[in-house]
Amino acid sequence: MELKVLDMVFPRRCPVCDDAVSEVGSLICAGCADDFTFIDEPYCIKCGRPVADDSLCYCPECDRNGSSYDYVRGRAVYEYDEVLKDSIYRFKYGGRREYAEYYAKVMADRLGKLIKSWEPEALIPVPVHKSRMRKRGYNQASLLADALGKLLDIPVEDILERTEKTKLQKGLTADERQNNLKKALKIRSNDVKLKKVVLVDDIYTTGSTINAAASCLRNAGVSYVYYAAVGAAVID
Ligand SMILES: [Zn+2]
Ligand SMILES: [Zn+2]
Repeated sequence: MELKVLDMVFPRRCPVCDDAVSEVGSLICAGCADDFTFIDEPYCIKCGRPVADDSLCYCPECDRNGSSYDYVRGRAVYEYDEVLKDSIYRFKYGGRREYAEYYAKVMADRLGKLIKSWEPEALIPVPVHKSRMRKRGYNQASLLADALGKLLDIPVEDILERTEKTKLQKGLTADERQNNLKKALKIRSNDVKLKKVVLVDDIYTTGSTINAAASCLRNAGVSYVYYAAVGAAVID
């Protein structure tokens, strides 16, 4: 009830059109939800990106490099198209932290069963650097992990930290990018007892962030790392 009163005073913004959501208690406008594009089958069994046809198990990227990845597998709910790109941009840089609730809800609806089947002991948000965090006031992946953890009843462990600001990643080779990121990530605790975890992030693009985070966790003794994200970039 309390939330609904708040909704009336500070109307919640729609993750698609960014207008105030008119229906109290709703997380998105009735007509807007369909503007996001779900990733349906066929998708890559490693990274969850859409693949061109049913005969393919892997996307081209995972076909080449998937066996070297430190995570087991992962899924995203939506294609990272223009609609989602704009939405995530506002979520990250425009202070629209309320979008996390809608994103987490669709993640729980579409991926909840699968995530549960991985039997994770914790959800782990992909960290952002402290200075970015100060500027923004929040880590978008933490907001997602918290909301998703509540819906699926899985604890959230914020054990990763980004110690260095990664340099502009554009123009670097995949290996260079990977090394930069690996150096930038650290485990906060020196006694990690977790064996199965799910990394949570807003988007999966090249996969280098998830991989670096997974590698960090594996080095700390975690046996199985999965990932879940709101969106994944499509490779043509
Ligand atoms: Zn809308
Ligand atoms: Zn893939």
